[in-house]
Amino acid sequence: MGLSVLAGLIIGGLIGVVLDISEVPAGSAIGTFVGGLGAALFLYAQRRRALIAGFLVGLFSFPIQLSIFMAVVSGHLYTPPPVPEISQDVLLVALAVTVFMQIVGGTLGGLVGNIIRHAPPGAVEAPRSYLPPPPPRPEKYCIQCGAGLAKETMICPACGARQPS
Ligand SMILES: [Zn+2]
Repeated sequence: MGLSVLAGLIIGGLIGVVLDISEVPAGSAIGTFVGGLGAALFLYAQRRRALIAGFLVGLFSFPIQLSIFMAVVSGHLYTPPPVPEISQDVLLVALAVTVFMQIVGGTLGGLVGNIIRHAPPGAVEAPRSYLPPPPPRPEKYCIQCGAGLAKETMICPACGARQPS
């Protein structure tokens, strides 16, 4: 489970940072959702564990996304726009909202990933039941029992009577 959470964190972190840099609204939460989805898909486990994995991805996404973001910035791959002056309180609320949305996103991802993996029987994964081809329309009928027969049938399979040619 740890490995799938880690994979989900990395996937979610990368996507979240890319979306964030592209200024997609709630980009980090969307990335985390994808991360949770990935974690659930990597996880060959029961529903509950996939949910927990998604939740963990959401929970740990913030520091991961922050460090990826910092790495991108310090590698001069991206220069963040100048941050407008905002009060500490607003910043704190924004932070809490981001973390909350990431947790929700990750958990939702885990849920969705699990539904995809454990599709209800008969929905997606069930193989199509094999239908035998319909019997050909009878071209003649047995002289003895009346069973439908193909034109070239010499012996009736139902009663064994020889058919006139
Ligand atoms: Zn017959």
